[in-house]
Amino acid sequence: MKVEIIKCLEDNYSYLIIDEDSRQACAIDPSEPEPIINFVEKNNINLKFVLNTHHHFDHIGGNKDLKKKYNVKVVGFIEDKNRIPEIDIPLKDKQVWKYEKFEAKIFHIPGHTSGHICFNFFNEKLLFTGDTLFSLGCGRIFEGTYEQMFNSLNLIKNFPKETMIFCGHEYTVKNSEFCLMYDPNNEKLKRKISENKKKIKEGFPTIPVTLQDEIDMNIFLRSDQKNIQRNLSLIEPTPLETFSKLRDLKDNF
Ligand code: ZN
Ligand code: FE
Repeated sequence: MKVEIIKCLEDNYSYLIIDEDSRQACAIDPSEPEPIINFVEKNNINLKFVLNTHHHFDHIGGNKDLKKKYNVKVVGFIEDKNRIPEIDIPLKDKQVWKYEKFEAKIFHIPGHTSGHICFNFFNEKLLFTGDTLFSLGCGRIFEGTYEQMFNSLNLIKNFPKETMIFCGHEYTVKNSEFCLMYDPNNEKLKRKISENKKKIKEGFPTIPVTLQDEIDMNIFLRSDQKNIQRNLSLIEPTPLETFSKLRDLKDNF
Protein backbone atom coordinates (compact mmCIF):
# COMPACT_ATOMS: atom_id res chain seq x y z
CA MET A 1 0.00 0.00 0.00
CA LYS A 2 1.39 3.34 -1.04
CA VAL A 3 0.16 6.90 -0.49
CA GLU A 4 0.64 9.49 -3.21
CA ILE A 5 0.30 13.17 -2.32
CA ILE A 6 -1.58 15.20 -4.94
CA LYS A 7 -1.32 18.97 -4.63
CA CYS A 8 -4.61 20.71 -5.43
CA LEU A 9 -5.93 24.29 -5.54
CA GLU A 10 -3.83 26.77 -3.52
CA ASP A 11 -2.69 24.72 -0.55
CA ASN A 12 -4.85 21.58 -0.47
CA TYR A 13 -3.60 18.04 -0.37
CA SER A 14 -5.59 15.21 -1.87
CA TYR A 15 -4.22 11.70 -1.53
CA LEU A 16 -4.29 8.49 -3.49
CA ILE A 17 -3.93 5.33 -1.49
CA ILE A 18 -2.77 2.74 -3.96
CA ASP A 19 -2.69 -1.05 -3.71
CA GLU A 20 0.47 -1.66 -5.71
CA ASP A 21 -0.41 -5.28 -6.51
CA SER A 22 -3.82 -4.63 -8.04
CA ARG A 23 -3.14 -1.00 -9.14
CA GLN A 24 -6.47 -0.11 -7.54
CA ALA A 25 -6.73 3.15 -5.61
CA CYS A 26 -8.91 5.38 -3.45
CA ALA A 27 -8.78 9.17 -3.69
CA ILE A 28 -9.08 10.94 -0.36
CA ASP A 29 -10.65 14.42 -0.45
CA PRO A 30 -10.27 15.19 -4.16
CA SER A 31 -10.37 19.00 -4.17
CA GLU A 32 -10.61 19.13 -7.95
CA PRO A 33 -10.65 16.45 -10.64
CA GLU A 34 -7.75 17.37 -12.95
CA PRO A 35 -4.68 16.66 -10.79
CA ILE A 36 -6.18 13.30 -9.78
CA ILE A 37 -7.06 12.37 -13.35
CA ASN A 38 -3.57 13.34 -14.55
CA PHE A 39 -1.89 11.11 -12.01
CA VAL A 40 -4.29 8.21 -12.54
CA GLU A 41 -3.83 8.28 -16.33
CA LYS A 42 -0.05 8.63 -16.22
CA ASN A 43 0.40 5.82 -13.74
CA ASN A 44 -2.08 3.31 -15.02
CA ILE A 45 -4.20 3.30 -11.91
CA ASN A 46 -7.69 1.90 -11.51
CA LEU A 47 -9.48 4.47 -9.35
CA LYS A 48 -12.26 2.71 -7.44
CA PHE A 49 -13.34 4.98 -4.56
CA VAL A 50 -13.46 8.53 -3.31
CA LEU A 51 -13.29 8.98 0.47
CA ASN A 52 -14.44 12.31 1.89
CA THR A 53 -13.54 13.58 5.37
CA HIS A 54 -16.11 16.41 5.24
CA HIS A 55 -18.37 18.34 2.89
CA HIS A 56 -16.36 21.55 2.25
CA PHE A 57 -15.91 22.37 -1.44
CA ASP A 58 -12.13 22.02 -1.31
CA HIS A 59 -12.50 18.39 -0.24
CA ILE A 60 -15.33 17.19 -2.47
CA GLY A 61 -14.75 19.26 -5.64
CA GLY A 62 -13.67 16.24 -7.68
CA ASN A 63 -16.45 13.84 -6.66
CA LYS A 64 -18.76 14.42 -9.59
CA ASP A 65 -16.21 14.30 -12.41
CA LEU A 66 -14.35 11.32 -10.95
CA LYS A 67 -17.59 9.38 -10.74
CA LYS A 68 -18.43 10.30 -14.31
CA LYS A 69 -15.02 9.29 -15.63
CA TYR A 70 -14.18 6.23 -13.51
CA ASN A 71 -17.50 5.25 -12.00
CA VAL A 72 -15.98 5.52 -8.51
CA LYS A 73 -18.06 4.89 -5.42
CA VAL A 74 -18.10 7.78 -2.94
CA VAL A 75 -17.64 6.98 0.75
CA GLY A 76 -18.59 9.43 3.51
CA PHE A 77 -20.31 9.97 6.84
CA ILE A 78 -23.94 8.90 7.05
CA GLU A 79 -25.00 12.04 8.92
CA ASP A 80 -23.58 14.16 6.09
CA LYS A 81 -25.18 12.16 3.30
CA ASN A 82 -27.16 15.18 2.16
CA ARG A 83 -24.11 17.34 1.62
CA ILE A 84 -21.46 14.91 0.37
CA PRO A 85 -22.10 15.00 -3.39
CA GLU A 86 -22.62 11.64 -5.11
CA ILE A 87 -22.33 9.62 -1.89
CA ASP A 88 -22.84 5.86 -2.42
CA ILE A 89 -21.52 4.29 0.77
CA PRO A 90 -22.63 6.13 3.94
CA LEU A 91 -20.74 4.98 7.03
CA LYS A 92 -21.46 5.26 10.73
CA ASP A 93 -19.08 6.32 13.48
CA LYS A 94 -16.55 3.56 14.25
CA GLN A 95 -17.64 1.48 11.29
CA VAL A 96 -15.00 -0.49 9.38
CA TRP A 97 -15.11 -0.20 5.60
CA LYS A 98 -13.38 -2.89 3.58
CA TYR A 99 -12.82 -3.56 -0.11
CA GLU A 100 -10.22 -6.17 -1.05
CA LYS A 101 -6.99 -4.92 0.56
CA PHE A 102 -8.39 -1.52 1.55
CA GLU A 103 -9.56 -1.57 5.14
CA ALA A 104 -10.29 1.60 7.12
CA LYS A 105 -12.15 2.44 10.28
CA ILE A 106 -13.90 5.78 10.39
CA PHE A 107 -14.23 7.99 13.44
CA HIS A 108 -16.62 10.90 13.86
CA ILE A 109 -14.48 13.90 14.86
CA PRO A 110 -16.78 16.96 14.93
CA GLY A 111 -15.64 20.54 15.50
CA HIS A 112 -14.49 21.92 12.13
CA THR A 113 -17.82 20.70 10.74
CA SER A 114 -20.52 18.73 12.52
CA GLY A 115 -20.03 15.73 10.24
CA HIS A 116 -16.26 15.56 9.98
CA ILE A 117 -14.70 12.08 10.01
CA CYS A 118 -11.19 10.65 9.74
CA PHE A 119 -10.16 7.47 7.95
CA ASN A 120 -7.82 5.13 9.80
CA PHE A 121 -6.15 2.47 7.66
CA PHE A 122 -5.26 0.59 10.81
CA ASN A 123 -3.26 -2.22 9.18
CA GLU A 124 -0.83 0.31 7.72
CA LYS A 125 -1.27 2.85 10.57
CA LEU A 126 -2.29 5.71 8.26
CA LEU A 127 -4.69 8.41 9.39
CA PHE A 128 -6.38 10.91 7.06
CA THR A 129 -7.44 13.81 9.25
CA GLY A 130 -8.90 16.32 6.76
CA ASP A 131 -9.27 19.76 8.36
CA THR A 132 -9.37 18.56 11.98
CA LEU A 133 -5.70 17.93 12.76
CA PHE A 134 -3.13 19.75 10.63
CA SER A 135 0.59 19.45 11.10
CA LEU A 136 1.32 21.81 14.01
CA GLY A 137 -2.22 23.14 13.96
CA CYS A 138 -5.91 22.29 13.91
CA GLY A 139 -8.90 23.35 11.87
CA ARG A 140 -11.06 26.35 12.59
CA ILE A 141 -14.20 25.61 14.55
CA PHE A 142 -17.00 26.35 12.09
CA GLU A 143 -19.91 24.17 13.16
CA GLY A 144 -18.93 22.59 16.43
CA THR A 145 -17.99 23.68 19.93
CA TYR A 146 -14.54 24.07 21.45
CA GLU A 147 -15.25 21.01 23.52
CA GLN A 148 -16.11 18.90 20.49
CA MET A 149 -12.92 19.91 18.72
CA PHE A 150 -10.90 19.32 21.89
CA ASN A 151 -12.42 15.83 22.25
CA SER A 152 -11.83 15.06 18.58
CA LEU A 153 -8.16 15.97 18.91
CA ASN A 154 -7.88 13.89 22.07
CA LEU A 155 -9.34 10.93 20.20
CA ILE A 156 -6.64 11.30 17.56
CA LYS A 157 -4.00 11.64 20.27
CA ASN A 158 -4.79 8.11 21.41
CA PHE A 159 -3.90 6.38 18.15
CA PRO A 160 -0.57 4.48 18.09
CA LYS A 161 2.21 7.07 18.24
CA GLU A 162 3.83 5.84 15.03
CA THR A 163 0.64 6.53 13.04
CA MET A 164 1.33 8.60 9.93
CA ILE A 165 -0.89 11.66 9.67
CA PHE A 166 -2.07 12.96 6.29
CA CYS A 167 -4.00 16.24 6.56
CA GLY A 168 -5.98 18.43 4.19
CA HIS A 169 -3.76 21.48 3.81
CA GLU A 170 -0.16 22.67 3.70
CA TYR A 171 -0.37 25.17 6.58
CA THR A 172 2.60 23.79 8.51
CA VAL A 173 5.06 26.69 8.42
CA LYS A 174 2.51 29.32 9.38
CA ASN A 175 1.17 27.00 12.08
CA SER A 176 4.65 26.47 13.48
CA GLU A 177 5.16 30.19 14.03
CA PHE A 178 2.09 30.22 16.25
CA CYS A 179 3.27 27.15 18.19
CA LEU A 180 6.64 28.76 18.82
CA MET A 181 5.06 31.95 20.14
CA TYR A 182 3.41 30.15 23.07
CA ASP A 183 5.86 27.24 23.40
CA PRO A 184 9.12 29.14 22.89
CA ASN A 185 11.43 26.69 24.65
CA ASN A 186 10.45 23.68 22.57
CA GLU A 187 13.79 22.69 21.03
CA LYS A 188 12.33 19.89 18.93
CA LEU A 189 9.91 22.40 17.43
CA LYS A 190 12.71 24.80 16.58
CA ARG A 191 14.61 22.10 14.72
CA LYS A 192 11.44 21.04 12.92
CA ILE A 193 10.77 24.60 11.78
CA SER A 194 14.07 24.85 9.94
CA GLU A 195 13.54 21.41 8.38
CA ASN A 196 10.07 22.39 7.21
CA LYS A 197 11.15 25.72 5.76
CA LYS A 198 13.81 23.89 3.77
CA LYS A 199 11.26 21.37 2.48
CA ILE A 200 8.88 24.10 1.34
CA LYS A 201 11.68 26.06 -0.32
CA GLU A 202 12.65 22.98 -2.29
CA GLY A 203 9.04 22.34 -3.29
CA PHE A 204 8.39 19.32 -1.06
CA PRO A 205 5.37 18.82 1.22
CA THR A 206 5.85 18.77 5.00
CA ILE A 207 3.34 15.88 5.09
CA PRO A 208 3.09 13.14 6.30
CA VAL A 209 4.06 13.51 9.94
CA THR A 210 4.02 11.04 12.81
CA LEU A 211 1.52 11.37 15.61
CA GLN A 212 4.41 11.32 18.08
CA ASP A 213 5.91 14.43 16.45
CA GLU A 214 2.55 16.19 16.62
CA ILE A 215 2.16 15.33 20.30
CA ASP A 216 5.63 16.76 20.95
CA MET A 217 5.22 19.96 18.91
CA ASN A 218 1.62 20.76 17.96
CA ILE A 219 0.44 23.23 20.59
CA PHE A 220 -3.20 22.19 20.11
CA LEU A 221 -2.27 18.72 21.39
CA ARG A 222 -0.32 20.22 24.30
CA SER A 223 -2.95 22.17 26.21
CA ASP A 224 -2.21 20.03 29.29
CA GLN A 225 1.37 21.38 29.46
CA LYS A 226 1.97 23.74 32.37
CA ASN A 227 4.53 25.90 30.57
CA ILE A 228 2.06 26.61 27.77
CA GLN A 229 -0.72 27.39 30.25
CA ARG A 230 1.59 29.88 32.00
CA ASN A 231 2.33 31.68 28.72
CA LEU A 232 -1.37 32.41 28.28
CA SER A 233 -1.77 34.18 31.64
CA LEU A 234 -4.85 32.17 32.55
CA ILE A 235 -5.42 31.35 36.20
CA GLU A 236 -5.28 27.60 36.80
CA PRO A 237 -6.88 26.77 33.46
CA THR A 238 -8.14 23.33 32.50
CA PRO A 239 -6.75 21.82 29.29
CA LEU A 240 -10.06 22.65 27.58
CA GLU A 241 -9.81 26.32 28.63
CA THR A 242 -6.22 26.39 27.42
CA PHE A 243 -7.18 24.84 24.11
CA SER A 244 -10.09 27.29 23.64
CA LYS A 245 -7.87 30.29 24.34
CA LEU A 246 -5.26 29.03 21.88
CA ARG A 247 -7.90 28.47 19.22
CA ASP A 248 -9.17 32.05 19.68
CA LEU A 249 -5.65 33.46 19.49
CA LYS A 250 -4.92 31.46 16.37
CA ASP A 251 -8.05 32.80 14.64
CA ASN A 252 -6.51 36.27 14.81
CA PHE A 253 -2.91 35.26 14.22
ZN1 ZN B 1 -12.77 22.30 5.65
FE1 FE C 1 -10.18 22.54 3.69
